[in-house]
This record gives sequence, structure tokens and C-alpha cells, in this order.
Amino acid sequence: MEAKESRSGSYVWQSILYGRDVIQRGARWRIGSGRKVRVWQHHWLPRKHPPLLCSPVVEGFENATMDLLIDAETRTWNEELVDGLFAPEEAELIKRIPLARGSAEDILFWPHSSNGRYSCKTGYRFLKEENELIPFGEPVNTKLWNGIWALNCPNKIKNFMWRACRNSVPSKVNLMRRTILQEAICERCHQVEESVVHAVWSCSSLDVVRSNLSLWGVRRTQSFVDFKELLSWIIVNHQDPELFAITVWTIWHHQNQQIPRVPAVPRPRARWVPPSNGSFKINFNGASFRAENKSGIGVVIRDGHGMVIASLSEKLPRAYGPEEVETLAAAMALGFAREIGVDNVVLEGDSSIVMTALRGEDHYLSASGLSVEDVQLLAAHFLNYFRRDGNKLVHSLARFATFLV
Ligand SMILES: [Zn+2]
Repeated sequence: MEAKESRSGSYVWQSILYGRDVIQRGARWRIGSGRKVRVWQHHWLPRKHPPLLCSPVVEGFENATMDLLIDAETRTWNEELVDGLFAPEEAELIKRIPLARGSAEDILFWPHSSNGRYSCKTGYRFLKEENELIPFGEPVNTKLWNGIWALNCPNKIKNFMWRACRNSVPSKVNLMRRTILQEAICERCHQVEESVVHAVWSCSSLDVVRSNLSLWGVRRTQSFVDFKELLSWIIVNHQDPELFAITVWTIWHHQNQQIPRVPAVPRPRARWVPPSNGSFKINFNGASFRAENKSGIGVVIRDGHGMVIASLSEKLPRAYGPEEVETLAAAMALGFAREIGVDNVVLEGDSSIVMTALRGEDHYLSASGLSVEDVQLLAAHFLNYFRRDGNKLVHSLARFATFLV
């Protein structure tokens, strides 16, 4: 990975070097023991852009490795330390990374494909997405980041400011780029495309806002290319950034309550079939709830007549990613089956990615690969163990779980 490019290099060699550059930019560390991965220097955060931490480096921790953040005995995050070292948005992301029970080696994987392996197609898609987002990571952004976290307002508003600066909120322009919407014209003024800065600042329909009159008057004279430029100007010129933040947050949420942004796609339903006589079927499902920062897990165990013999509904104190929560649900389902003493079982889940991973096909490199190994270890205790796709009856249990105290 250290070879240098030379002008006389062949086309093939240059292509290889180019591919290597893409891999270096897009690959991510999966945390096992955490000893190989450096907190502030390596890509390990589960987000696409930027993959490096934005929270300022804390004195004395410059060369810290990830094992420092993990309680080796319980294999959980040292939440007090994580909350103390990082800005709230990043601390939350970190605490959502599930840690496997055993401490394996840290490995580099490609997070932009479901099996963790690099391909030209996923490399190309990664580059395309990278180009569409604002370039990130220059000193000016650290300054802006610090400016946002210093604001004296609720974290949800700081989070919104940050996402708006990164252009990662669902404005119509962004939804059109992701081919969710056909056109991006603002539905209030019908004049201009609805970018983030248009939606919360320059749209003529916002002339009626009476929040900060002197600042709002500037809208006619000052123009900004994007939200990041606008917020930087507000902070640098001391234009009451707190009031500005609360005002634009209120505007954005008021607008989004009125306009349904993303049409809901109904899920096709699979038919549930009882297991053969003498065996038991375990259905499991995981659901995650971003707003409440919770996940729910549902498990139902039935016999060959389709009779429910046991069920479980459990709440987890984090909103995990969809594959992660499904894998955690599978582990919990098998643990529960062992507890109640059934040993001839069929395991059925509805995430094809997770089910493929549990089959042991090419899962090793994926982000949740270590949790998959946990499931496989648990599965080894059963006399008879099948995996099948197609599941619908445990969704409500997983959803119900978040109402439990
Ligand atoms: Zn408008």
C-alpha cells in the first residue's frame, strides 16, 4: 500500500494505484480488540463522510487507540469516557457500534458493500457520493464544528445545524439527487429549487418571520451559496447564532410537518409456515428507533402445530443500524431458545443480508461480522439448526419492546 506513482508507469499500474487510493479513502476499521486502531487518525466511525472524528483531539489522548474506550471485561463501551471525550453526535455514533462478546483482531473492511469486500462497482459509487458531498476536514470545518458545539441550545438543534452544514438533510434538491423526488422546485414560493439554505433562509415565503428583525433584514442584501457559508458568517459576525439556530430549526421542522417528504413503500408480506413435527421455529426481528435512540427485539418460538410456546420482547438502550440490530436479535433468539430448553430448531429472520451472513457465506469482513460469529457460536449448541428467510409475525413484538420501561 506504500508504492509511489511514476510518470512512466503503465496504465495497469496507474489503475492499481488509483484503486488503492479509493480503498484507502473508503475503507474502515472494524473494532475487535481495538488495539490496532488509533482514535483520531484512523477511519473507523460508521459514517460515510467524514469518516474521521471531528471532535477536537483531547490533550494527552493524541495517540490513543480504541481499546482505551472499551471495558475489556464486559466488552462494552466505556460510556463515561466516550461522552467525556467526544461531541454528543459522535459519542452517540460510537455507542451504537455493537461490540462482539469475544475480543477479535481489528480488521480493515469495505463498508460500502454488504459483504465487506471491495469491487469496482461499489468503489465507483463511493467516489460519486464523495464528490456530491461538500469536501470536508479542512481547518475551517473544525472551527465551524467547535462554533456549533459551543452554541447554548439543545443538542438536537446543534445536530441539525451540523447536518445542514454537511448538506445531509432531506431538502428537495438532495432528495432529487437521490432520485426520490422528480423535481426540486420549492413548494412555497414556486420560484427556485429548494436547497437547505433556500428552505430555511432565502425563500420569499419566510419574509413573514419575525424572529430577529435586524438579521432577517440582511436576507435581501447578503446571499450565501450554502448553509455552511451562511452559518459561518453568522458566527463570525456575532449575529446572535443561538437565536438564528433556534429559528431555522423551527422553520425546518414546521415545513417538514406539512409536507410528506418520502413516500412510504409497503413491504411485501411472506407467509409463515410451521416447522416439521418435532422441531420448533424461532422467528426473530429487530427494529430501531432513531428519534428515541432505542432498539427493540422480538422473538417468537412455535411448535410444529404453529402454537406459540414462548415469546420475548426486549428493549436495547441504543438505536443500532438495521443489520446490527437484526444480528443482535438472532443472538438473543438463540440464547432464549437455549434457556427454555428447545434444541431442535429452525431460525427464521427477514433480513436477507443477515440470513446470508448467518449461513456463513462471505460474512467475515462485514461490519457486523463479529456479532455474526457470536450467533454461529450459539447455534453450535443446537442439535438441529436450520436457517430460513421469510418472517413477519415478530415485527410488532420488536416495536412493542420500545414501550417497555
Ligand atoms: Zn421558496
